[in-house]
Amino acid sequence: MQFKSRLIHAGADRDPFTGASGIPVYMASTFDQRHAVRKDFDYTRSGNPTREVLETAVAQLENGATGLAFASGMAAISSTLLLFSPGDHLVAGRDVYGGTFRALTQLFSRLSIETTFVDSTDRQAVEQALRPQTKGIFVESPSNPLLKITNLPFIADLARENGILSIVDNTFCTPFLQRPLTLGFDIVVHSATKFLNGHSDVLAGLVIAREQETGEKLRFIQNTFGAVLGVQDSWLLLRGLKTLAVRMEAAQTGARELALRLNALPEVRRVFYPGLESHLGADIHSTQASGPGAVLSFELKSPSLTRTFLQRAELPLVSASLGGVESILSHPATMSHAAIPAEERKKLGVSDALVRLSVGLEDPEDLWRDLRRALGKQF
Ligand SMILES: *Cc1c(COP(=O)(O)O)cnc(C)c1O
Repeated sequence: MQFKSRLIHAGADRDPFTGASGIPVYMASTFDQRHAVRKDFDYTRSGNPTREVLETAVAQLENGATGLAFASGMAAISSTLLLFSPGDHLVAGRDVYGGTFRALTQLFSRLSIETTFVDSTDRQAVEQALRPQTKGIFVESPSNPLLKITNLPFIADLARENGILSIVDNTFCTPFLQRPLTLGFDIVVHSATKFLNGHSDVLAGLVIAREQETGEKLRFIQNTFGAVLGVQDSWLLLRGLKTLAVRMEAAQTGARELALRLNALPEVRRVFYPGLESHLGADIHSTQASGPGAVLSFELKSPSLTRTFLQRAELPLVSASLGGVESILSHPATMSHAAIPAEERKKLGVSDALVRLSVGLEDPEDLWRDLRRALGKQF
């Protein structure tokens, strides 16, 4: 089946008992062991019929053996990092999500799991960071907020050659645009809070493993650590997923148009978007993903213009998060990257004049008018 059809029919597209057009929300914490037709459910932390359909669906969509749903993207990422043990060393992209950076530097470091952060777009830097104790590589592409492109097949090959795990955060692209397990990655993690659910009304995380053996280790952690996704949220995420393709296509069309127009404004110093030919790594991105996505960033001429711009914009939310039906503007320096020390932020190129825009499903012309007006342009 083509991806769009799988979105509608993956997992379970109808209730096997009644033929209902959707799977029921099994709001149950426990299951009577005597009277069930299926006896493999016993307690919802270990497995729930609604969550299981979601987990099966996302495994199919990412071409993996096992899918697992967690209470948030960070719960998914932290649970995945529990695959590692004291003394293990990790290599991670320098511009991974702020929460991932915080987990690695302030939580897993206390468990004696050390991480070296490198520019993951620089092959040599990644190779040179490997040590005998290195057990995993964690990257994100495109990265947040500068949409830097990491060569994913290179990272997957490097990990395989060294017998270590490769993990990628695929939140920005979703499996609609990029399927890293087919490029050789071992594990894909997601904040399903973003495009996968798509409606800014659920917090959720996913982990998909290419091989069942890795999947079983992760399932053990999911059940043992217990950061599972709730039943109601599993159902909402299943519903959101069905429209992923049409939402991503429409949002991407808007993002392409806005990136081009913003790029031509004198108030805008620079636009970061893999859909622009001038974007560093756009050529690599086009070989590993089928589209540039719906998130772009741009740097304005000054921090003061940035402040007034964020005050004046009316249509987009000004908030953390992305990937909703509504456009969302964010200010990385004070929001998503506030957890990263100022010194580190500077090194990453996240200036105070940088703004990130997650393009939603409004008419792009309305968005354009609003952005222009917020920049002080007259019509
Ligand atoms: C939001 C986000 C996360 C964290 O997910 P939560 O659902 O907020 O816990 C991780 N990675 C990326 C790329 C994100 O955008």
